[in-house]
Amino acid sequence: MSKNPRYDVIIVGGGPNGLGIAAYLSKCGLKVCLCEARLEVGGGCETIEPIPGFRIEPHASYNYAGASPAWEQLDLGRFGLRMVPANVWGTAATQDCKRVTCSSRWNPEAVREAGRMWGEEVAQQTEAIYSVLETQECKDFLRSIFWTPPPPDGYSTDPDDLPWVKAIKNLPLINLVYDHSWLDMSVLDITNIICSEEAQKVGLSIAAWDSGPEFTSKGMGIVGLADTFLIMYASASPLGGFHSYAHATMRCALAHGCTILTNSPVEEIIVENGEAKGVRLADTSPSADKVIYADKAVISNAHVQKTFLEMVPSRHLDKGFYQRVKDINLNGGSLFKLDMIVKELPRFKDKAGEFMDKYPACSNVFPVDNMEVLLNQRNAANVERRHAKSKDEMILRCVRQSVYDPTRCPPGYHILYNYIVVPPPEYHRDGPEACNKASEEIVDLMLSHFRDYCTNMGDDNIVAKYVCTPYDSSFRNVGFVGGNWQGIRACEDQWGVNRPLPELARYRTPIDKLYLCNQTSHPGGLALMAVPYCLMHILIEDLDLKPGSWWYPSPYYISDREVKTGEI
Ligand SMILES: Cc1cc2nc3c(=O)[nH]c(=O)nc-3n(C[C@H](O)[C@H](O)[C@H](O)COP(=O)(O)OP(=O)(O)OC[C@H]3O[C@@H](n4cnc5c(N)ncnc54)[C@H](O)[C@@H]3O)c2cc1C
Repeated sequence: MSKNPRYDVIIVGGGPNGLGIAAYLSKCGLKVCLCEARLEVGGGCETIEPIPGFRIEPHASYNYAGASPAWEQLDLGRFGLRMVPANVWGTAATQDCKRVTCSSRWNPEAVREAGRMWGEEVAQQTEAIYSVLETQECKDFLRSIFWTPPPPDGYSTDPDDLPWVKAIKNLPLINLVYDHSWLDMSVLDITNIICSEEAQKVGLSIAAWDSGPEFTSKGMGIVGLADTFLIMYASASPLGGFHSYAHATMRCALAHGCTILTNSPVEEIIVENGEAKGVRLADTSPSADKVIYADKAVISNAHVQKTFLEMVPSRHLDKGFYQRVKDINLNGGSLFKLDMIVKELPRFKDKAGEFMDKYPACSNVFPVDNMEVLLNQRNAANVERRHAKSKDEMILRCVRQSVYDPTRCPPGYHILYNYIVVPPPEYHRDGPEACNKASEEIVDLMLSHFRDYCTNMGDDNIVAKYVCTPYDSSFRNVGFVGGNWQGIRACEDQWGVNRPLPELARYRTPIDKLYLCNQTSHPGGLALMAVPYCLMHILIEDLDLKPGSWWYPSPYYISDREVKTGEI
């Protein structure tokens, strides 16, 4: 057996972003080895069966990746990925259950019918927004934000040169109301311009908060708005559960010759003379070789803090840099989850119930018409740093993938994935275990909230319940520092050219040949296959890769050379 094998590239971690870059680089013909700490690859794209036949997603469930170039570039369909379209994506009920809002890319009739509950003007407004999704300009807008690497240092700071400003100016309808003041706005500010009803404002703010930046975060309005477009653009979920997305990417990587080691935590990224040389695996790894070398690059799919505070020996890092990595803000994106197996879907009261029975949706939100409740929930989690304690701080989100995907559970049952936002364990004012300790109390509050809106959410309908707190998330997935699905806070000073820190924004690090490919890099959380795509641009430059004709870069990509030579 060869001692200390060599690869072109070693990837630390097999989450969606690690698998994505493994697939891309293997497809370029490089000799790649991916080391995953857990028994199974997938990271946050996990599907489990706590009871055989009943599939639960502890983390990712909504697919936001519809506009990703990876679908075609990696040919994921050929490797087993099938999507199930959601005829009606989401419905949300008002406090009195007399009205709903409805989002659906594929069912304009449902959108129109819900819109009319608010008046003809709202119906027309909502329909018009959905027509934008069908345009090439919408895909281009999404790609300009999520599938474009941040520009290099020294590039223009003129707003007109920003990719998404160029793209938004072509976006039908939105271009009529956009001006540069949007760049400083929050999602909430933008909803005040584009929405007339409180329910629309609450709905958009929730969708943005659950997908990206917090809705009051200044300077993040356009990103948040785009996040809401991402959900609607995809309007579909992977057949069988989110793990099948990771599996298809893994199969693509394997088909192109990648080596994947599971159960193999990387304990150290080996650095010599300021250059990444390889990795040292834990003694528990079944791999015969505990030290593996990389000739071209080591890529960390682990959280930025795990990478620099745990894997790269601190003697190789500047003290100031080390401290700034430590200081990165984790607040935002930690969810308290309650999964339930039920015999019947929740039956909502009154007119909302009639609509929801007629148009069963993949997700529900309730209530949708009270901004104060949303602000209360946000203040509890992000300002007072505690979990919600009463119903006036509670807007419940419920995902129901089994409505459209029959493989999620046997006939006669449904799976409900319910969640609310809470602080990351490290920031909870009552200590990291606070949500775990209060788990029963929080579940009771969620159930009582359900019963205010639905007539059938008693013990006779609920077969089983499973709780997943952010603290649990950080144990089950070693990548989720803070149990946080965005890795770090998505805010102006930790996004784009600042994510996770300005000197790391282009995925390069102070260690030569060490690159980052985790959700803590731009454009952040969600299984978008965006970080690997963006990183590819940098690696094509640095490693002189020659991908085949399947590859196309972002039209907005700015290379270092173009800035250095003054071409741009
Ligand atoms: C509750 C919750 C709900 C979510 N919902 C959604 C959703 O609906 N839709 C969506 O798109 N996204 C969702 N997400 C976010 C999504 O799961 C993440 O954005 C995504 O998983 C990030 O991918 P990643 O590859 O960057 O990191 P991860 O998925 O964290 O993967 C990192 C991998 O690296 C491995 N690793 C870490 N350290 C080491 C080491 N030292 N050695 C070897 N391996 C290591 C980990 O085990 C892991 O497999 C959710 C997340 C949470 C927590």
